[in-house]
Amino acid sequence: MSRFFSEKFASLVPYTPGEQPKDMQYIKLNTNESPFPPSPGVAAAVAEESGKLQMYSDPESITLRDKLAQVYGVKRQQVLVTNGSDEVLNFAFMAFGSEKAPLAFPDITYGFYPVFAELNRIPYTQIPLREDFSIDVQDYMGIGKTVVIANPNAPSGLNLPLSDIEAIVKSNPDNVVIIDEAYVDFGAQSAVQLVDRYENLLVTQTFSKSRSMAGARLGFGIGNEKLIADLNTIRYSTNPYNVNRMTEFAGVAALEENDYYMQNVQTIICNRQWLSQQLRELGFEVLDSSTNFVFARSPRLDGESLYRELKQRGILVRHFSQSRIEQFNRITIGTMEQMEALIKQIKDILEA
Ligand SMILES: *Cc1c(COP(=O)(O)O)cnc(C)c1O
Repeated sequence: MSRFFSEKFASLVPYTPGEQPKDMQYIKLNTNESPFPPSPGVAAAVAEESGKLQMYSDPESITLRDKLAQVYGVKRQQVLVTNGSDEVLNFAFMAFGSEKAPLAFPDITYGFYPVFAELNRIPYTQIPLREDFSIDVQDYMGIGKTVVIANPNAPSGLNLPLSDIEAIVKSNPDNVVIIDEAYVDFGAQSAVQLVDRYENLLVTQTFSKSRSMAGARLGFGIGNEKLIADLNTIRYSTNPYNVNRMTEFAGVAALEENDYYMQNVQTIICNRQWLSQQLRELGFEVLDSSTNFVFARSPRLDGESLYRELKQRGILVRHFSQSRIEQFNRITIGTMEQMEALIKQIKDILEA
């Protein structure tokens, strides 16, 4: 830390992204990227827009927001697009979290939530998940705080039914409830269909996971027009050109080729079932995943050792040192070939 760093950030502990080591070619199962490339229209759109980079992007991202509005059955004014969904989450924390409206989210969830809370100096409560890592909906009923829930949750992979989400939203009419649907396409019901009924509901999604565009940085929020207007106040006070023109039109192209992505989602669900079963046959406990990863632990091998052994053998998975989950690893679902290579290495490690 330099002596110039503002003291208001002196104790800020930044988010740690999954490692991207360059020392060798790894099978990368640690950051929940898609193993499939973007659809052909995406590269074409990027090429076309790259020839216009002398001009700013559209600060209103009209073309992309109209496309999203059409796909999700809402109005343009109910859609905000951002530089990854991390950005819409940060904006939402800034806009709706305060001393009077502190945050509440699970103890085991996306690691960025406490970081955004600290960055924006918003008080927060981390509510313990049940022993089986599920969310106890009762904990959030009428809690009177700004609620943030990832559905499906990460890294557990577990989902809540839409009726539970609705109950939480309904019981907190004076606070915003943020539902982070980064993984919704892999097996949960989206709360987008509730946004016309509840003015306090904000749903966020991303192109990073099911739509193979993690490197393009594109996310979006859908909610009541007034919530979206508040988020735009923050956005225009931060960076009105937060979505660059290549990314905007890559997103439009991806939505036009939606079938390709939904087919990939089906493949990933199949591979997830296969991997879960293989791991269970090897004695692992595997949580029921509704995402593009599984969260698993072996009674015979501690979480950290499995992570290290796999890395030595050229496979990266994600290990978290938080005490409740240190025996687990989060493993991204890849191609069948990658899943077979993983199982082969795990068998080797268990036999050694
Ligand atoms: C990946 C992820 C995000 C956001 O990713 P972006 O790449 O910024 O869109 C948000 N929430 C959760 C739970 C995630 O796993």
